[in-house]
Amino acid sequence: MNTYCNSLTSYSRFLTREVKVGDLGIGGNNPIRIQSMTTTDTMNTIATVEQSIRMIEAGCELVRITAPSLNEAKNLEVIKKELLKRGYKTPLVADIHFTPNAAEMAARLIEKVRVNPGNYADKKKFEHIEYTDSSYVAELERIRERFTPLVKICKEYGTAMRIGTNHGSLSDRILSRYGDTPTGMVESAFEFLRICEENNYHEIVISMKASNTLVMVEAYRLLVAKMMESGRNYPLHLGVTEAGEGEDGRIKSAVGIGALLEDGLGDTIRVSLTEEPEFEIPVAKDLVDRYVNRNDHKAIPAFNEKLPYNPFEYERRKSREVINLGNHHVPRVIADFGNRENISAASLFGLGYNYSVPLDKWNLSDMAVDYVYIGDNQVDFEIPGTLRFIQSSEAWRKNKNQQQAYPLFCAEEYFHSGNRSNELNFVAVDIETLTGDFIEKISKEKHVVLVLDTFNEHGMAEQRRMVLDLLKAKSDLPIILKRNYASLDEKQFQLFSSTDLGSLLLDGFGDGIWIKQKDCVSPQVCNSTAFGILQATRTRISRTEYISCPSCGRTLFDLQETTAKIRMRTDHLKGIKIGIMGCIVNGPGEMADADYGYVGTGPGKISLYKGKVVVKKNVTSETAVDELINLIRENGDWIERTNLS
Ligand code: SF4
Repeated sequence: MNTYCNSLTSYSRFLTREVKVGDLGIGGNNPIRIQSMTTTDTMNTIATVEQSIRMIEAGCELVRITAPSLNEAKNLEVIKKELLKRGYKTPLVADIHFTPNAAEMAARLIEKVRVNPGNYADKKKFEHIEYTDSSYVAELERIRERFTPLVKICKEYGTAMRIGTNHGSLSDRILSRYGDTPTGMVESAFEFLRICEENNYHEIVISMKASNTLVMVEAYRLLVAKMMESGRNYPLHLGVTEAGEGEDGRIKSAVGIGALLEDGLGDTIRVSLTEEPEFEIPVAKDLVDRYVNRNDHKAIPAFNEKLPYNPFEYERRKSREVINLGNHHVPRVIADFGNRENISAASLFGLGYNYSVPLDKWNLSDMAVDYVYIGDNQVDFEIPGTLRFIQSSEAWRKNKNQQQAYPLFCAEEYFHSGNRSNELNFVAVDIETLTGDFIEKISKEKHVVLVLDTFNEHGMAEQRRMVLDLLKAKSDLPIILKRNYASLDEKQFQLFSSTDLGSLLLDGFGDGIWIKQKDCVSPQVCNSTAFGILQATRTRISRTEYISCPSCGRTLFDLQETTAKIRMRTDHLKGIKIGIMGCIVNGPGEMADADYGYVGTGPGKISLYKGKVVVKKNVTSETAVDELINLIRENGDWIERTNLS
């Protein structure tokens, strides 16, 4: 299995069959559709209708509403009627977990139902069960009996269905046989898909969501590869679950969704943020609009050989160590001050360095940049010991103090220069200069790090093409991925850079990232975006990670407020993952690999988890955040802020 998309070099959308959701076509040649989900109580018709209208007005083309029981399922008809009365024909989707009777009711009333194969016919017990082949087949038979009535209703009423697999809520059966893996996620969807097909029902959209972008991207790729192998072409619904809020949520969503869109995968997307659902829509639009004219990009030479890496399993590209770059080192962050007229100590303040005058020392944050490109500038102040500068080769040659400074050459210049560093030289290359001969020659140089630059509109693919050539030639030179952005607003800058760089990092490519930007954001935002991308791809952890659900009609507390409260107390706990989930039904499963969990169990009641194990049940919401901190402390993961340097 080597292919999961039409082309790795030429942008081309994977053509899926068209599925009609009411009048709305998903897949085929339709535009990539944008959708979201309400967070109101489904029984509160007016609140749900009004929120739906806000979403629709923002550009939402499909509104999903939770239907935890038969009552909510029935109320979907009332909501639909009210929306129609107010002039809105947008199709509705019922979100179902654990309740086949609600699904069967909703399928008669509205345009689409979403089922989660992990919990449609199973109660999740997190049990490992040894299945013999015959007991496994018996289990599948049980699911067939439970699921077939819904398939028949959908077929009869012309209702569409999403088979929405979620990492973290796989059935015990799948977990026992395939583990908590992308393969298990794909098989989970296929169990249900086969039943649909046996009934000659094909109005199906599939999703493979996870909060871990690596798992999510691998699962979708595996799904498409398996569909291609078996001649299937169902539309794909893309999403990163529990992406969180604000900058982190946007970066994480862009990394996961963007990586797939870049390869032409995806027919509809939902960006899940712990914010009001209408705020998700502009993010989704920005992500999708980038591909409207992507076909026109400058041609990239095709790679017609067997892929020299495995796109279905993460492995970091092997590279040699040059100072603190490559090999086992975390990917480095390079800031670009090349256009500045001069560099002072204050220039570093937005890059994670703060100078304390009374102590006469530099303080570093977890997001202290590793290298700064200063172009033709010289530096005349004492710099922090952990920071290094990159200069134009000309400025570096004139530099009297080259101790923490290294030159940047262009490809042609490097071999002709009589002045090179005997520690580290950066050599900038693009797809034209990175020829086979050049790779062979430059790879023999011990102290070189390549900077891969691109100006192609399909830049991720062009940089990937460059990496393929390096892999083919078995070159182990460390590589820096450099991207250039101009005149974007802050949100677009974050989304685009996360997509472009995150996609490559998820494939194990990149020993560092370098973002050059003009008229987009402050150096501080640029730096924090760069660290955010590394965090979202889990290649370098510099922050606490929050896996917080977007909330829905099942949510038992104010998720936005609680997330903010927990964040305020814990955002210094680098590397810890905290799940904040609105309900006990899906929360424990969907917080996936969180280290600690804060889950709503009833009105005003919270349960706290260590990993997947509940350790404090039904704590009152007033004391729950304190109890969570105590739990983190009891497990030795707590650090006082004052102890941080
Ligand atoms: S985990 Fe959150 S979004 Fe998911 S069903 Fe529960 S409350 Fe709704």
